[in-house]
Amino acid sequence: MGAIGEEELMKWENMQGLARGHEEKILVLVRLRPLSEKESARNEVADWECINETTILYRNSLQERSGLPTAYTFDGVFGGDCSTKHVYEEGTKEIALSVVSGINSTIFAYGQTSSGKTYTMNGITEYTVADIYDYIQRHEERAFVLKFSAIEIYNEVVRDLLGRDDTQLRLLDDPEKGTIVEKLAEETLRDWSHLRELLSICEAQRQIGETSLNETSSRSHQILRLTIESSAREFLGKDKSTTLSASVNFVDLAGSERASQALSVGQRLKEGCHINRSLLTLGTVIRKLSKGRHGHVNYRDSKLTRILQPSLGGNARTAIICTLSPARSHVEQSRNTLLFATCAKEVTTNAQVNIVMSDKALVKHLQKEVARLETELRTPGPACDYAALLRKKDLQIEKLEKELRELTKQRDLAQSRVEDLLRGVRNDHSSGQWDELSHNAKFQEKNTWEDESSVSEASCGTDRHCLDVAVKKKKFNDATQSSNKNNRRLSEDEGDHSLFGGTSSSLSDSRNFGRSDRCRGKEEFVLETGESSDDICKEVRCIEHEERAFVLKFSAIEIYNEVVRDLLGRDDTQLRLLDDPEKGTIVEKLAEETLRDWSHLRELLSICEAQRQIGETSLNETSSRSHQILRLTIESSAREFLGKDKSTTLSASVNFVDLAGSERASQALSVGQRLKEGCHINRSLLTLGTNFVDLAGSERASQALSVGQRLKEGCHINRSLLTLGTVIRKLRLTRYSFLYSLKLQLAA
Ligand code: ADP
Ligand code: MG
Repeated sequence: MGAIGEEELMKWENMQGLARGHEEKILVLVRLRPLSEKESARNEVADWECINETTILYRNSLQERSGLPTAYTFDGVFGGDCSTKHVYEEGTKEIALSVVSGINSTIFAYGQTSSGKTYTMNGITEYTVADIYDYIQRHEERAFVLKFSAIEIYNEVVRDLLGRDDTQLRLLDDPEKGTIVEKLAEETLRDWSHLRELLSICEAQRQIGETSLNETSSRSHQILRLTIESSAREFLGKDKSTTLSASVNFVDLAGSERASQALSVGQRLKEGCHINRSLLTLGTVIRKLSKGRHGHVNYRDSKLTRILQPSLGGNARTAIICTLSPARSHVEQSRNTLLFATCAKEVTTNAQVNIVMSDKALVKHLQKEVARLETELRTPGPACDYAALLRKKDLQIEKLEKELRELTKQRDLAQSRVEDLLRGVRNDHSSGQWDELSHNAKFQEKNTWEDESSVSEASCGTDRHCLDVAVKKKKFNDATQSSNKNNRRLSEDEGDHSLFGGTSSSLSDSRNFGRSDRCRGKEEFVLETGESSDDICKEVRCIEHEERAFVLKFSAIEIYNEVVRDLLGRDDTQLRLLDDPEKGTIVEKLAEETLRDWSHLRELLSICEAQRQIGETSLNETSSRSHQILRLTIESSAREFLGKDKSTTLSASVNFVDLAGSERASQALSVGQRLKEGCHINRSLLTLGTNFVDLAGSERASQALSVGQRLKEGCHINRSLLTLGTVIRKLRLTRYSFLYSLKLQLAA
C-alpha cells in the first residue's frame, strides 16, 4: 500500500471532482468478421459492409424494400479486414486503460455464437494487459499491485475459473463493494507471464458447448477481472497515504441467439434457457437504462447483471463490442445484435476515481470539502439575489394589498346598497300588513324615526346620548332592527375613551341638558359619536304629523349604591325591580309623567337634576357617583282610527343614560362613604363591562368584586374597565352591539 503527496492528492481530488459529475454514454462498437471458411464453402453472401468508421450498411437489394433500416451508426464500426489490435487502439483502449487512473472499466463482447466474441475479447484482454504493464514500467514513482480473478456463469451457476474444483460460488451483497462473489480466488500477479498462465487455465476450464452453429462456441459467460491498486512510492507507509483502486472487466458473453434457432435439444436446450435468463435480463436492463433512469431496474434478476451492475449505468466506463457475422443466413441475428447495440449506446454511466484513503488523509479531504461548501454557501451566485427576490415579493404584497383595499371598498358599497334595498322592502311589507298604516303610506315613507334613529323635536336637546328605540307592538320588530342596524353606522372607534373616559362626547353628564336649547326649532339634529360628523350625522325628521295622535311619557331614575330611586318621586324611597312577563324588568311604583308640552318636560328635567346625588372626589368636585336613566316613551296612533276596533298604537321608549364616573376608587382618593359608593358603582359598571365582554365573546370577567377588600376592588374595577376598553378597541365593537348590550342591560 503506497501513499500520495499533497500535490497528488489535489490532482486526484480534481480528477474526482471532474468525474463526480461526469456522465458519459456507453461506448458501442461493431465488429464485422470475415466470412468463415465454412460459410464461404456454403457460398454464403456477405450482406454487411462498413462504409466508414462509424456506419455499417446492409447491402442486400432484396431486403432494401422491407422497411427495415439499412444503415446503422455507432461510435465505431470495424470491418472484416480490421485487426483486433486496430479495434483495441481505436475503440476500447482509452476506456480499458482508465483503470490505471483509478476508474473502473468494463469491455463487453456481445453477439451470436461464432460471430467472433471470444476471438475479439482474447485480443482486447491481451493488448490491455500489455499496455497496463507498459504504463507501470513508465511510472516507477508509483507502486502498483495487480490482482486477477475469473468467473464463469453457466446455467446461472457461478464458478471460479481459477478454482481447483467445480464448487458453485455464492453472490453476497457487500455494503461498500456491492455484489461480490464469495470465496473467489484472487491471484496477485507477479508479472505478465504469470497472467498469461492464468488466462490459459481459464480457457481450459471454461465450459465449451457444442451446437450445430459452431463447434467451439460457448454457452457460458466469462468475466475476467483485473484489479489495479497504485500509490506514490514517496508516501508509502506514511499517514497521508492514499491509494487508487479500480478494476477492468473483460466480459465474453455467451451466444445471443435463441435456443430454437440454435436447434438445441435436451441439455443444450436447458442451457440455452439459462443463458437466456442472463442475456434476457441484460437486454431488459439495457433497454430500461436507455430510456433514462426511471423506476426500478431489474439488475437482480440474473447473476450476470448483479455482478456487472456497476458497469451498467454505474461507477464504471463501459464499452460494448458487438460482433457480427456478415453471412446472409445470420441476418436476423445480426439485426438483433444491432438492435441491442442501438439501445446500449443510449445508456449513461457515471464513473468516478476510486480513492482509498488513510484515515488522516480522509479527514484532511473532508475538511477541505467542508471549507469548499461553506465558501459556496457564502457567495451565492447571481441566480440567488435574495434582496432582489425580496423586493419583488414586497411589490407583489403591496399590489395585493391595494387590490384588497379596492375590493373591500366595493364590498362595503354593495353591502350598503343591499341594506337600503332591504329597508325599502321592509317598509313595503309593513304597509301591506297594516291597514291603518297603509293609510299612512306617505308617513311611512317620509318619517324615518324608527328607520333613521331619529327622535322628536322634544329629544333634540339630547344629542351625544345613546338611543334605544324599542317598538313594542308586534310586527314592528323589523322597524326596531332597522333602527339598530342604522346605529351601526355610527363610529366603531369611539371605543373606551368616549364611552368610559367621561369626555364631552360620551354618555356624559346631565348638566348638559341645558344645551337642548341649541337645537330647539331645528328640524334636524346630529347624533354625535366623536368622529367626523359628516360621516355619521343623519338627517332626521321631527314628528310633525297632525294626522297622528301622540302621547309622550317621562320617567327618571337614579341608581346609587345599587339602590334605585325615582328622580321625580317625592321621597327617597328605594324602588324595587320587578320582572314583568311582557315588559321584562320594570321599576315598581315608578312615577311616569304624561307630558303636556315641551316646557313641562323641562320642568321635570330640572327636578331630576336637583334630585340627583352628586358625589365629591378630589378629581372632580361635581362628578357623579350615580347612574341616571331618563326615559321618554312615545305612543302614537292614527287619529282616523282612534277609538275604533282597528286601532293600533306605536309605542317606543328612548333612554338617556348618564353613567357614573368610571375612575378607580384608589385614583379618586375616596374615603368612607365615597369608597363604599365607589364599590357599588363598580358593581354596576363591572356588570356592564362583563356584559360587553360576554357579548364580544372574549374572556369572562370572572374577576368579580371581592366584598370587603377595598383595595382589591379598585384593582378589579381597573381590570374590568381595562378589559372592557381593550375588548372594544380590539374587536372594534360596533355601536350596534354597544347599543344592543346597553339595551339588554338596562331594559332587562
Ligand atoms: P464466438 O465466441 O462469438 O462464438 P469466436 O470468437 O469463437 O466466436 O469465433 C468463431 C470463429 O471465427 C473462430 O474460429 C475465430 O477464429 C473466427 N473469427 C472470429 N472473428 C474473426 C475475425 N475478425 N477475423 C478472423 N477470424 C475471426
Ligand atoms: Mg466464444
